[in-house]
Amino acid sequence: MRFRILWISLLITTFAIILYSLVSTQIFYNLSVENSERALIVYMNAFDGEKYTADDEGAKAFSLSLGGARVTILDGEGNVLGESEVDSIERDHSQREEVKEAMESGEGFAVRSSDTLNKNMVYYCRAVDADGEILLVRIAQFSESEWAMYVQSLPSVAAYMVFDVLGCLVFTYIATYFIMRPVEGLTREAAAGGRVQTKYTELRSIAEILNERNRDIELKVSELEEERRLVERAQSSKDEFIANITHEMNTPLTSIKGYAELLASGLMDEEHKKQAYATIVSQADRLTNLISCIINYSEIDSDDLPSYEVNLTDAAREMIAVLSPEAEKKGVKFIDETQDGVKIMSRHERITQLLGNLMRNAVRYNKEGGTVTVRLDCGRLEIEDTGIGIAPEYMDKVFSRFFTVDKSHSGKNGGFGLGLAVCKKICTRAGWRISVQSELGKGSKFTVDFGLR
Ligand code: ADP
Repeated sequence: MRFRILWISLLITTFAIILYSLVSTQIFYNLSVENSERALIVYMNAFDGEKYTADDEGAKAFSLSLGGARVTILDGEGNVLGESEVDSIERDHSQREEVKEAMESGEGFAVRSSDTLNKNMVYYCRAVDADGEILLVRIAQFSESEWAMYVQSLPSVAAYMVFDVLGCLVFTYIATYFIMRPVEGLTREAAAGGRVQTKYTELRSIAEILNERNRDIELKVSELEEERRLVERAQSSKDEFIANITHEMNTPLTSIKGYAELLASGLMDEEHKKQAYATIVSQADRLTNLISCIINYSEIDSDDLPSYEVNLTDAAREMIAVLSPEAEKKGVKFIDETQDGVKIMSRHERITQLLGNLMRNAVRYNKEGGTVTVRLDCGRLEIEDTGIGIAPEYMDKVFSRFFTVDKSHSGKNGGFGLGLAVCKKICTRAGWRISVQSELGKGSKFTVDFGLR
């Protein structure tokens, strides 16, 4: 950028110097011609028609009196009568510009290269009265041509140009430093990532563009960071998921392997053998149960099947009927407070999973003689129990995968800590909000807000 400015500035000044020298040469040339003309008028005033004869002798004498200026004496028709320097080849000068003017108006000037002397000359011709006879007297003076003047001025112009180049280099270097300083300042500030400001109007649009770019970059960076966080979180939750599955599978497998080895050793009596077979079957059931729970949980993510209108009231009442026998065994009663005809866009199997998990938990974690109240209207589903409740420190975690408050309980009755995680996933995918309120020892209330009210 600096070099560019430097080059442009050098070109401009060089062009300016050449132009200036041409114009000034022309001005000086014009001045010199004017001075010559003035001098010739003064010389001409000294001509005396009686003193100088109208022949070569007279012309030479007058020329001598003028210090050597070329003198030509012509008759009234423009024919040469006398010449001070050389014999003119052409006697008829009537067509010469200055002679013609003098014949017409009494005097005339001309500047041209003399054919006879081969020099640039200034001519002045005047009509004079010599004893009643009209003579034309012409005086000529040598003058430098424009080109000669220009050539003469070239060495000083060249010297000046060298001086100019040096001056230009220094001046432009200093000037560009001051011009570039605010631009460089802007770039530095923008590179540092801060908001740039400038007092220069010309730079305001650049500052705005830089600020806009910085904002875009910040946005992109934060988006990428968010994406990275999500990927990391997904990765760690995937690792955790696999670790949990492995852990849950390990317990029944160890048990099955242990009993199988004992049976193979042939050391067991019939009584213990029966017990071993029963344990192997129940642990295998537990494994199958776990696998179907995991498949079910994973399926929800890839479930792109279309939704349709499901009668929520019917589904809730059916689930109460299904779970009632199991509840009765525990001395738990269902209280049905569902509104008739509540419908929702979903799929039947998902609604059954949601209701089943919530209601089964309400029975499972209830107390002898407790109740499960199912409330339903068009905007909300509530399942409230009078069971053991959830300690405040676990409230956030109950919807996490594989979370169980009582680890010793894990796996019994299919409780792998996936039920509420499945509920949460179904609700999130459908755009519903699931939450829990609970008091330890008094009971819990799970609410699904359909967001329709
Ligand atoms: P699980 O299959 O173990 O029941 P869930 O995901 O359904 O898994 O529940 C996770 C944990 O939340 C349970 O282990 C239990 O400790 C607690 N929980 C769930 N529902 C209730 C409830 N109604 N009352 C008390 N605790 C509950």
